[in-house]
Amino acid sequence: MSKTVLIVGGGLAGTIIANGLCRQLGDEMRRGEVGITMLGTSETHMYQPGLLYVPFGRIREAELFRDQRKVLDRRVNFFVDPAKHIDVEHNQVTTEQGRTVKYDYLVLATGARPMPQNIPGMREAGHWFYELDAARKLRDALNGFTGGKIVVNVNAPHKCPVAPLEVVFMLYEHFKAKGILDKTEITYTYPIGRLHALEPVAHWAKPEFDRIGIKYETFFNTETVDPEKKTISSMEGVSLPFDLLITIPPHAGAQVIEDSGLGKGGWVPTNTKTLSREGSTNVFVCGDTTNIPISKAGSTAHFEADVLIDNLVSLLQEGRMARDYDGKVFCFVETGMNSGTYVWFNYTTPPNPGPPSQMIHWFKLAYNRLYWLSARGLL
Ligand SMILES: Cc1cc2nc3c(=O)[nH]c(=O)nc-3n(C[C@H](O)[C@H](O)[C@H](O)COP(=O)(O)OP(=O)(O)OC[C@H]3O[C@@H](n4cnc5c(N)ncnc54)[C@H](O)[C@@H]3O)c2cc1C
Repeated sequence: MSKTVLIVGGGLAGTIIANGLCRQLGDEMRRGEVGITMLGTSETHMYQPGLLYVPFGRIREAELFRDQRKVLDRRVNFFVDPAKHIDVEHNQVTTEQGRTVKYDYLVLATGARPMPQNIPGMREAGHWFYELDAARKLRDALNGFTGGKIVVNVNAPHKCPVAPLEVVFMLYEHFKAKGILDKTEITYTYPIGRLHALEPVAHWAKPEFDRIGIKYETFFNTETVDPEKKTISSMEGVSLPFDLLITIPPHAGAQVIEDSGLGKGGWVPTNTKTLSREGSTNVFVCGDTTNIPISKAGSTAHFEADVLIDNLVSLLQEGRMARDYDGKVFCFVETGMNSGTYVWFNYTTPPNPGPPSQMIHWFKLAYNRLYWLSARGLL
């Protein structure tokens, strides 16, 4: 009897897995023994890391999008029909349009989304670049900015661990090029007692911030934003005035995860090595939606997806798992408009950012294009 692998979520993780399974299970699919189904929310696939460049006018919006059906192997049964209820007891998912999809193996890859509405006043007074509309508004705000106080406010949890640092370095160079650096003060806030969750990255960033005069306020857990007074206040009792607020809002996982009772906040309890949902043997979790305490990043999703492809193929062909995920993450870090560095780490090796160079920045720009090969599972 044919086995169905159902993937919920057509972002980076879901797409890499679907394409990888098709490539490795071609014979089984041809014989009708395996089928791959995906439920997604949109006909288009967005390259999210490209949003970082939108506020600075450094990317054309067309570069951010591809038709999801063209990114996916044509053997994937893809439905733009979001999952409404995931029933792991009965191995089935019901959808917004009333489908019931039964599965043998389920992959949850529903990602993470910014929730500015969770902090009073943030949506009204803040700008962010984690969604396209918001990134466009920030571009307009930066175009009209002639100097004053900017607060770059970071909240947890959030995806892309390094984007908040990147935007600070890019803002600095943007204002320098505009000739308004002397009229501009940038203050960065972070919820714990250093500049970044990853300690070596925090140690690296501090002297860089000091060198270019970025102020910072650590132990800043945002409580409220006052759109009238233009102040942002922390639970620790600190209030900062701003002319422009750029926030990395706190994130949540997908609503369907929470509604289906699969994880508080939309984060699914996940085995750090096998990536199986805690308590399930046929449900796997990939990318931002896991509760694994590592960076929510595209590279994390990619490395996890590679493991899951091997394990699902082995399960289907030989009834066993193939290998464990070792916590590997790799991130390029823009340190300005023309320089960059990178970090890589795993569960046992901490990150160690190297000296920035123009060449690494070029690699990051090249990756912005190569992403589409990555999503197809060719890189
Ligand atoms: C500004 C920005 C910069 C970034 N920069 C980097 C970077 O430089 N390097 C890096 O590695 N990462 C970066 N990232 C992070 C990276 O984009 C994400 O970590 C990555 O996309 C995670 O993949 P995912 O598949 O888990 O989630 P996503 O790619 O977000 O995909 C989840 C998918 O699930 C869908 N979904 C949700 N609910 C349902 C439902 N009910 N039914 C069906 N589908 C559903 C969503 O619509 C979405 O398409 C950046 C992100 C942002 C926003």
